[in-house]
Amino acid sequence: MDCLFCKIIAGEIPSKKVYEDEKILAFHDINPAAPVHFLIVPKIHIDSLDNINDGDNADYACYILKKIPELAASQNIAGGYRVITNIGEDGGQTVKHLHFHVLGGKKLDIKLG
Ligand code: 5GP
Ligand code: ZN
Repeated sequence: MDCLFCKIIAGEIPSKKVYEDEKILAFHDINPAAPVHFLIVPKIHIDSLDNINDGDNADYACYILKKIPELAASQNIAGGYRVITNIGEDGGQTVKHLHFHVLGGKKLDIKLG
């Protein structure tokens, strides 16, 4: 499958790593929208949150959500941050591998949609 984030997970494309374990990888966004902006991806290919169901893949999404406070603290943004996941074309998803954006490091604008 020709997936950019699968290639980053496989190490075929380099990334600036924030955290890695057997289930997930977190790395800095190449085009940061805030002073701290990293992405968290599951190490299995899931298209988006729209593909989460009752099977194994829901566990990956939950695992990522539970890890976010620890990873935010590791980047010194524990005082406040934003988590975003874009879904599909209209949701602004450009890479079709589930990922959670974590943004912080300044007072973020309130702009949704
Ligand atoms: P989306 O628009 O799909 O929610 O977010 C995709 C994100 O991936 C964008 O914020 C974009 O800057 C980031 N991105 C795209 N290509 C690369 C890459 O090769 N390396 C890294 N680290 N980030 C990337
Ligand atoms: Zn993928």
